[in-house]
Amino acid sequence: MKAHLIPAMRAVHIRVDHAAVTDNLCRYIKEGLAPLGITHLVIEFNPGYVFKCFPELSFGDFGREHAQKVAAAAKEAGIEIIPLFMCLGHQGWRLDTSMLLKVYPEFIERPHLPTEAEHLPHDLFFYCHSWCASNDKVYDYVLPMIDEIMEDFGADMIHVGMDEVFDLAESTCPCCSGKTRPFLFARTVNILHDHIVREKGWQMLMWADRLNNAKEFGYHAWEGDIWDTWKAIDLIPKDIIMADWHYDMNEQGFRGIERFIEKGFTVLPAAWRKLDQTQYLLDEALKWRDSAKEKGYSGAMAGMMVTSWNNCTNEFLDAMLPMLKDRIQEEPEIDPDTPREKRPPAGIAASIVHMAEKLKDYQP
Ligand SMILES: [Zn+2]
Repeated sequence: MKAHLIPAMRAVHIRVDHAAVTDNLCRYIKEGLAPLGITHLVIEFNPGYVFKCFPELSFGDFGREHAQKVAAAAKEAGIEIIPLFMCLGHQGWRLDTSMLLKVYPEFIERPHLPTEAEHLPHDLFFYCHSWCASNDKVYDYVLPMIDEIMEDFGADMIHVGMDEVFDLAESTCPCCSGKTRPFLFARTVNILHDHIVREKGWQMLMWADRLNNAKEFGYHAWEGDIWDTWKAIDLIPKDIIMADWHYDMNEQGFRGIERFIEKGFTVLPAAWRKLDQTQYLLDEALKWRDSAKEKGYSGAMAGMMVTSWNNCTNEFLDAMLPMLKDRIQEEPEIDPDTPREKRPPAGIAASIVHMAEKLKDYQP
């Protein structure tokens, strides 16, 4: 990507599938995110969006009219919406499949798994379903759905997901057997890129975890790859923004950030809900970005993203908004016995505030 085209990003991610949040979300954008200088809002529609192109693949009740309302609020607030459409992996949660695989089970990479999660030996044996990376009929559905969401929002940046893809190049799949993971992963990226970037002229983002060599950087098998998928890094276009998420501390740091810049990519480190980890990741990211600049590497760091894996309910937005308005600087003490769903999302709010303030004047 040309240096002058790299956006300075202070991005926030949420997951939406209920239309009931629309008005609150508009308020959150205008009164919570905009005053902090947030530049981009990634809205993930996993699992649901009301598609006009394939009503049978719709789920939830958020659709075009809600998208247009949110897009108008974001435009007024000077924030760019980036729809997130999960591709390849994460097609559903655990054994429960997405609508795409429910309606078209012929796309499932591993259709013959036990039906009960407790019969699975461990998460790396099976985590979530993927679509088969060799069956290109899937794009007859995926690309029109992507186009529809992009048009509904009037967006020109799209995030295609692709994190935590474990079901890939399975020997049990007659179409994929004998092919390698990096080949099939890169092939999927390139098909999406051909449509999104070359045909449509949109900017493409994806999660970066499958392209991190976990062994080299001391990463775990979720934020990095242990099965050679990472070798796909040399088989894909460099104009994709790599959202490189890290949610845990790592005393070895996050040197993989420099590798993306070295390879010519634009990287967007992504944190989550622990303020101290967010601070550490951002310090690491800026360190490796400076080191990459000194070495004259051709890529860049766009900024940072703070993710939220809570469902975006009105309750969540009501809890977040006052914390952002107060520019919360630290996580309050919470009784450790409080169940996770009852805890205020203070770590996410504090992470957003920290990122926004630290990167206030940041230029890639
Ligand atoms: Zn397959």
